Amino acid sequence: EERLRRVRDRVRPFRDFPVPGVLFRDISPLLKDPAAFRTLIDLLEDHLRASFPQIDFIAGLDSRGFLIGPPLAQRLGVGFVPIRKKGKLPGPTESVSYSLEYGKAELEIQSDAVEPGQKVIIVDDLLATGGTMCAACELMKRLKAEVLECLVIIELKLLKGSEKLKSVPFYSLLQYD
Ligand code: 5GP
Repeated sequence: EERLRRVRDRVRPFRDFPVPGVLFRDISPLLKDPAAFRTLIDLLEDHLRASFPQIDFIAGLDSRGFLIGPPLAQRLGVGFVPIRKKGKLPGPTESVSYSLEYGKAELEIQSDAVEPGQKVIIVDDLLATGGTMCAACELMKRLKAEVLECLVIIELKLLKGSEKLKSVPFYSLLQYD
């Protein structure tokens, strides 16, 4: 599709970032081009409207999920909830630790961010190993929210991250090997 091509053209590969051997997919050109960014949000909005009759919240992952989540939530007329790296959110929180390639990290959500049974879409820019998205799903489970879907712009297929999400529905706009 023409609209997908316009988005794909604004994702830039960088070799050996952040460490040697990694091909990093940079979405900065997408953010810099207002027409392409609008097209991105159009495509994600169309997908969600066609798939889910009711959504209560968009939850975004620290930090590039914060760039896509709020404009998407505004289009849908729903609220946005941040899922942050540890130590950034005030008040009572739930936290989940997960393993990275080297070491560990922790994600947090405010305990009152969503009510039990509310329907949530979790968004991020990219799915690699799926570890980050999996931790976010665990946080939603702790709050007894219903994750309707995990949604990303880019999926790195070879890492098979979507398999880690098991029964949670997953959608990616662009796929790379
Ligand atoms: P995972 O936990 O799935 O291995 O890694 C996904 C997380 O790392 C996402 O939050 C994403 O923003 C970041 N990430 C990993 N690799 C890339 C990449 O090549 N490009 C971008 N934009 N983000 C990446």
